[in-house]
Amino acid sequence: MNDKHEKHFLDEFPDIYVAMRTGEPFTEKDRAEGMLFGFTCGDGWFTLINTLSRLIRGHMKNYNRDKSEDKMQVKALQVKEKFGGLRFYVDGADEYVHGLIDLAESMSYEICENCSSTDNVKQAKKSWIQYLCETCRENAGLDTWDEKDEHIPNQETLDSMEKTERGEGLTEYDTLADLNDD
Ligand SMILES: [Zn+2]
Repeated sequence: MNDKHEKHFLDEFPDIYVAMRTGEPFTEKDRAEGMLFGFTCGDGWFTLINTLSRLIRGHMKNYNRDKSEDKMQVKALQVKEKFGGLRFYVDGADEYVHGLIDLAESMSYEICENCSSTDNVKQAKKSWIQYLCETCRENAGLDTWDEKDEHIPNQETLDSMEKTERGEGLTEYDTLADLNDD
């Protein structure tokens, strides 16, 4: 995500993205409680993440109204693309906020990560998984997976892929095809 967009999030939602304000290099304390990687996803999801951030802030404001203690403070730990979709990892969220995040993560598969178009967004055939609109795929000279190979990962697949990744040290740059081979 470009600097202008990152700065917008830091300025507009300083409490949610407080962990990003600590800067690099990260200390052990930062690692324990902070966001480590910044926004590692495309600018096409700016509006999606911005809307999510606004809704989280609004919910916290309502929840915390008239509370002098036990206030909710949602803190983003990591915002990134993984297996083609948005991942928004947080600390301090309640069920409602987790629901908002689920919605945003699901919608990311319908929004071009590069330009935010929703026009015919499909999984591009490249070395890592990315969901792009028709124009961005054409500009980059990328095909989509053939209909018979089409892997639109459902939540169950994603969960098992994440488990495989954690357990066997695969990286997010492994393609779905690689993962399906074993
Ligand atoms: Zn696009």
